[in-house]
Amino acid sequence: MRADEVDDGADNGQHVIASGYEHLFRYLTSIGTRDHVTFPKRSTLRWPDGRTVSVQTTGIGAVRSLFGLHPDASVGDRMRAARATLRLGWQALHPPADLADITTEQWFDRVGMPAPAREALWDWLALGIAAEPVSRGSAKVFANVMATGIRMGAKHRTLITIGYPTVDLDTLYVDGAIEFFATHGVDVRYRAVARRIEIADGAVIGVLLADGTVVPADAVVCAVPNSHVGGLLDDLSEHAEIYAAADKLAATPIVSTNLYLDRPLGTESAFEGLIGGTGVIDEVFDRQIMHGRSTDRTWLYCLTTSGAYEQIRKPSDEIVDEQMALLRRYYPAAADATVVHAQVVKMPKATFSQTVGMDSLRVPQRTSVPTLVLAGDWTATDWSATMESAAQSAARAVDLLLN
Ligand SMILES: Cc1cc2nc3c(=O)[nH]c(=O)nc-3n(C[C@H](O)[C@H](O)[C@H](O)COP(=O)(O)OP(=O)(O)OC[C@H]3O[C@@H](n4cnc5c(N)ncnc54)[C@H](O)[C@@H]3O)c2cc1C
Repeated sequence: MRADEVDDGADNGQHVIASGYEHLFRYLTSIGTRDHVTFPKRSTLRWPDGRTVSVQTTGIGAVRSLFGLHPDASVGDRMRAARATLRLGWQALHPPADLADITTEQWFDRVGMPAPAREALWDWLALGIAAEPVSRGSAKVFANVMATGIRMGAKHRTLITIGYPTVDLDTLYVDGAIEFFATHGVDVRYRAVARRIEIADGAVIGVLLADGTVVPADAVVCAVPNSHVGGLLDDLSEHAEIYAAADKLAATPIVSTNLYLDRPLGTESAFEGLIGGTGVIDEVFDRQIMHGRSTDRTWLYCLTTSGAYEQIRKPSDEIVDEQMALLRRYYPAAADATVVHAQVVKMPKATFSQTVGMDSLRVPQRTSVPTLVLAGDWTATDWSATMESAAQSAARAVDLLLN
C-alpha cells in the first residue's frame, strides 16, 4: 500500500510470525526470502504509568515470562500463574470435553490464572491467537494452538517464539514468487474472479470466471476465504454443508492504523504491547527497528487492533485521534508529536470468527471429488487464523492432489 504523501509503502498489518510456521518458512525458502524474518530475544510490555517490562522471548527466560511478568505480581501470584500455566498446558494436550463450549476467559478462570498474569501476558496472547477478546474467543481455539506449540517445541527441543519481517510484505511474499513463477512458466491472472468450479463425471473440468470465460483445469485448489466460497462449489455434492459451515464461521474485524510522526516515540523493541489500556489490547510496531527504515522525513508506527468491533464503525479521523491519545498515555515523547500522515486500514472481514462453537466447523481440504481440494486459513489445520494456517492448508491440499 503506497502512502504517496510521505513517499512510503506501509503494509496492512501482518507483522507477527511464529517460529513454528514450518509451512510458511517452506514457502519463503522456495522464493528466496526466508532470511527476511528475524526472532528478537526480547520484547517490551508497557503500562500507562510509564513502567516497562522487558520480556525475554527465547530460552529459559521465556519460560519464566510465562509464569508472571506483571511488575505488581506478588510471589503468590507468580506461583499461582506457574500452576495455572501447567494446567493450561496439560488441558491443551488432553482437552476436557467441554472446552469447545467455553470462552478463553472461562478457561483462564477455571485453571486459576491470576489477574496480573492475565493482564501482562495471557489475555494478550489469546487475543493475538484468536483475533477475539478473551470474553468471546473460543478456549478450544487457544488450546489447539497451545497444543501445536507444545508438540512442535518438544519435537525441535525449543520453545516457539515470535518474530517479524525485516522487509515490507511485498518483498517478503510477492516479489520472489513472481520471479519464481516466471522461471517456472506459471501464468498468473490478476483480478480474475472465479464464479464456479465446473465438475463433470466426478472430476473438475474447468473454472468459470466472472467475465464468462472458462479456464480448463484437470485439478483445482479452491483457496478463497470462507466469506467468498458461496456459489463456487455448486457442482460438488456436499456443497450445502460446506456453505453452511462457511457462513457460520462468519468474520471478525481488524483495524490497522499506520501513523507517520514527526519524531520518534522512544520505543525499546520492534513490537511493544500496551497493557491496561482500552480493554482492547494494542500492539505498536516500530517500523524503524523492524525494517531499518529511513527517518529523514517521518517515523512510522503501526498499531493493530484485533477484535475491533467498536473501532471498525468509527470514522478514520476519530480512530487516528484515539490511537494518538493512546500513544500519549504510554509514550511521553508522543505528547508533542505531530501526525504528518495517517492511514487507517479497516478490515471488517479480516479473518473468520474464532468464537465459541466455531472450531468444529472448519472443513477438511479433501472433497468428494479427488481433483478438487480446498485451502485457506479457515479450513481445518493445526493453527488459528494465521498465515501458517493458510500455508499448512495449501501444503495439505497439494499433497492430496499429488498422492
Ligand atoms: C490486519 C490483519 C493482520 C493480520 N496479522 C497476522 C499476523 O501478524 N500473523 C499471521 O500469521 N496472520 C495474520 N493475519 C491473518 C492472515 O493474514 C490470514 O490468516 C491469511 O492471510 C489467510 O490467508 P488465505 O490465503 O487463507 O486467505 P486470503 O489471504 O484472504 O486470500 C484469499 C484470496 O482469494 C481471493 N479471492 C476471493 N474470492 C475470489 C474469487 N471468487 N475468485 C478469485 N479469487 C478470489 C482474494 O482476493 C484473496 O486474494 C492478519 C490478518 C489481517 C487481516
